[in-house]
Amino acid sequence: MSFDQPLPNALSPSRLQDFRACPRRFQYASIERIAQPATYAATKGRLVHAVFERLHRLDPAQRTIDAARDLLGPAEADVLTESVREDLGLDQTSSERLRREATAIIDVYFTMEDPRSVIHEGVELRVRVDLDGVPMLGILDRLDREANGSLAIIDYKTGSLPNRRFDTQTFANTELYAALCEASLGERPSTIRLLYVAQGKAIERTVTPVVIRARASAARDAWRTIQRYHEDGRFPATPSLHTCRFCAFAERCRQSGVPVPTRPGSAGVAVSTVEA
Ligand code: SF4
Repeated sequence: MSFDQPLPNALSPSRLQDFRACPRRFQYASIERIAQPATYAATKGRLVHAVFERLHRLDPAQRTIDAARDLLGPAEADVLTESVREDLGLDQTSSERLRREATAIIDVYFTMEDPRSVIHEGVELRVRVDLDGVPMLGILDRLDREANGSLAIIDYKTGSLPNRRFDTQTFANTELYAALCEASLGERPSTIRLLYVAQGKAIERTVTPVVIRARASAARDAWRTIQRYHEDGRFPATPSLHTCRFCAFAERCRQSGVPVPTRPGSAGVAVSTVEA
């Protein structure tokens, strides 16, 4: 039996990533659209992104560190809604901590690049395109025009630096963004640069036509599988310590009989499919 709810109008690279991590999570988040409570880490990330977006919308000469710090207030007004404050249980102490940590990230960012010298084609750029039959929608943090005239996708990361042995996974999402850019703008970005703004380190990768084709093909395969699961009315759960660790749907899964691991050693990290 298929779902009452339709498939989403468009898929984002992060939703596709969700699907690959666990199809059941995709079902809950993107088909049933069950609201996920805000988390402290995600809220801090949104806050810092909102500051950088505002900063890069200013004229280049105005993009100073003082301007960025001043933008934190308006960003807070947008991001810290009543429901977010409620989810996080924000009081004066935790609000001040959040502001302190966000300010520290802003300060670190200014050691990584001089935003006054950045030439960009857009910030929070919405790219909507049909990619080989897959309706895709991506929002790029920033699309830069480099000194050599090529395009670079810039993605701010507020989490920890990844292990470079897993670059293929680390860049998978942004490489799909590169495929969207090429399909939509007719120009392939040459570089992806991930700015780990909490650590002050950037990692980058060159975009090749092979990678673009591979990401587009993987998206098409995933979309076909999504359509099939949707028709079947069931997206399998693939619990593992890694995928379930920060999942907002863990309790819902447990109640429906999915063996969600709760501590190291209670289940392996290997992905297995569960039909509960
Ligand atoms: S708790 Fe685990 S199995 Fe359940 S939806 Fe989340 S990631 Fe999937």
